[in-house]
Amino acid sequence: MPHPHARHALVTGSTSGIGLAIARALAGQGIDITLNGFGDAAQIEGVRAGIATEYGVRVRFDGADLRDGAAITAMVAQAASEFGTIDVLVNNAGIQHVSPVEEFPLEKWNDILAINLSAAFLATRAVVPAMKARRWGRIVNTASAHALVASPFKSAYVAAKHGVAGFTKSVALELATHGITINSICPGYVWTPLVEQQIPDTMRARGLTAEQVKRDVMLAAQPTREFITVDQVAALAVFLCSDAASQITGSNIAMDGGWTAQ
Ligand code: NAD
Repeated sequence: MPHPHARHALVTGSTSGIGLAIARALAGQGIDITLNGFGDAAQIEGVRAGIATEYGVRVRFDGADLRDGAAITAMVAQAASEFGTIDVLVNNAGIQHVSPVEEFPLEKWNDILAINLSAAFLATRAVVPAMKARRWGRIVNTASAHALVASPFKSAYVAAKHGVAGFTKSVALELATHGITINSICPGYVWTPLVEQQIPDTMRARGLTAEQVKRDVMLAAQPTREFITVDQVAALAVFLCSDAASQITGSNIAMDGGWTAQ
């Protein structure tokens, strides 16, 4: 059960994949939702209205581009003014680019650092004052197994996700006595568009077929040999927002089929 203070959650990157599953799961707990992300406007409106109807909560959408710091600050201010508070912040949006480091395009590096790391800082910075004033808050980051260990050809992503892990620990110490927890979920391979889209680049970078990438690169890292589901990640996010999780803070929690145990 969510804490009674958990009334409104802002979930970044929630038009697709893990973020959408987290938004649905929080809505299923009776929490109002601000969605964020890119996509086809009509499709997003369908998702927004669908969640509102299915779970009987208020759902709004903000298309802020998380590479734009001012847009993040404006999104947080707007969400807080329309729903009163932001009790739960889920820093989930993320992108990937797979390339040898010597060919890694600077724009991709900058985008990955901005979306996967700096956006979490900017959104956290913006929500914390009101959470402190209310003496309650939950911040959940979608990090990655790549916050804990590395893979080749993902230098920007691994750097950004390790950054999220460190950010999580540092901010947890600052907020520990304020009733606010911050944790990261570190999933292994979850079957989402982000994973599907990196298959062609990985095929090129490693000279493999699509089936070989799935079996020999992705699931080879994961002892269970199974993809994680978005609903499993979402269930952990819901738990981290509960009262039972009030003493979990500063943790980077693996959900990776045993990957980082090796
Ligand atoms: P996805 O591509 O399905 O979803 C990414 C979301 O981020 C989308 O809603 C997209 O519109 C949004 N987004 C991208 N760029 C944005 C920007 N500039 N501004 C605002 N929104 C933006 O990917 P996913 O697999 O669901 O990934 C979600 C998170 O989970 C990411 O942080 C990713 O790194 C992390 N993750 C994914 C996996 C996996 O295997 N899929 C594993 C570990 C961690």
